[in-house]
Amino acid sequence: MYDSIVIGAGIAGSVAARKLAEEGNHKVLVIEKRNHTGGNCYDRTDAYGILVHEYGPHIFHTNLESVFAYLSRFTEWYLYEQGHQVVARVGDRLLPVPFNLKTLHMVYEEKQAGELEQKLIAAYGEGSRVPIMKLREHPDPQIQDIARYVYENVFLKYTMKQWGQTPEEIDPQVTGRVPVLISYDTRYFQDKYQGVPAEGFTAMFENMLRHENITVRTSTDARTLMEFREKEIYFEGSRFEGNVIFTGALDELYDCQYGRLPYRSLRFDSEHLDTDDFQGGHSVVNYTVSEDFTRITEFKHLTGQRNTSGTTIIREYPFAYTGAEGEIPYYAIMNAENEALYKQYQELAGQIENLYLLGRLAEYKYYNMDAMADKALALADRLIHRAG
Ligand code: FAD
Ligand code: UDP
Repeated sequence: MYDSIVIGAGIAGSVAARKLAEEGNHKVLVIEKRNHTGGNCYDRTDAYGILVHEYGPHIFHTNLESVFAYLSRFTEWYLYEQGHQVVARVGDRLLPVPFNLKTLHMVYEEKQAGELEQKLIAAYGEGSRVPIMKLREHPDPQIQDIARYVYENVFLKYTMKQWGQTPEEIDPQVTGRVPVLISYDTRYFQDKYQGVPAEGFTAMFENMLRHENITVRTSTDARTLMEFREKEIYFEGSRFEGNVIFTGALDELYDCQYGRLPYRSLRFDSEHLDTDDFQGGHSVVNYTVSEDFTRITEFKHLTGQRNTSGTTIIREYPFAYTGAEGEIPYYAIMNAENEALYKQYQELAGQIENLYLLGRLAEYKYYNMDAMADKALALADRLIHRAG
């Protein structure tokens, strides 16, 4: 009955499903265990009429023209003219993050800042992006002083909250996502396109999944319909030989038989306030030295929504995922030990010829949305051409 089954209706699963259905003419079944599509990108209107991102702030950003064009078929965009801007609360000040030359001039007095700016430009070149862990290695004592400031006021405590580990202990690629910028570019991302779908992510996903060849079953854990036995997949009791794209956590597909893959999770605490503006127009404020939460998002500033009374904010509290009912794994914890464990599961899955692992969970990687959509398009393309 189905040519392909996609497990998970996040961006990976939804993009793959649409392409298979439309360009490959596959009959596709999408199975999603949550009661909605969109995965972690899901947004909804809260009790006060404010569009909120249920699973934390999601800003679409990309340099990939093909991905932007593909998603633009399903949505208009609210693009940020100045790019996405983030500030860190340090004491009673709000400093632009990533740390950049503007931040430098806010932290050091003018003459010293001017000298330091020249030093940084001489050392790395104007426009460079320097990971904090690299900046710390520079032999010059003045550059080391800047590195110490940035490490202590931007990275150390935030990272401890987010990961339960110091920046030295985690994969350097993670802190490398937010490098020190040797420029006056105050944007959080440097991508060409930055923004959110004009009518929200959920509407974009609904448009994407609305196709005559696609059937969506929400509130359904695939494991209640399917079995994965050594080299074979069974769907509702019968052998299924079509493609199965799995975008969930791979250890859970195999009942964690080698042990749990570690993930970080988040608790989102939402609050509605009877004020027009809570953060002085800032959509995201990172709490890099104080508080137990990592950041506060004020959604009306993120989505540009104007017709609101009051404002809704969400605080994010990280914790270690345990697999308990209701918890969601958000971040793979990338290190050699965890990757070795992941490989064991990957080998199990590799025995099944028609099973494809796709997505941030299934691949145990730290992907942004655009990378996910790009990989989903590539996989669907491969499956269509192989089938054809
Ligand atoms: P998911 O969105 O997790 O989708 C997987 C889906 O599979 C889920 O809906 C899950 O319920 C379902 N599933 C799992 N197991 C089963 C099963 N057994 N049966 C049925 N269904 C199952 N990226 C950006 O580009 N910009 C951002 O600003 C950004 N902000 C983020 C903020 C936070 C707090 C987090 C956690 C992530 C952020 N990301 C951001 C990353 C972005 O969320 C991911 O890149 C993207 O959601 C990955 O899509 P996915 O489809 O792989 O995974
Ligand atoms: N980070 C930090 N302070 C900040 C911003 C980021 O220490 O103000 C570190 C932290 O370890 C975080 C990582 O850089 O997990 C990546 O940040 P990013 O904003 O990309 O995280 P995400 O939005 O994916 O949670």
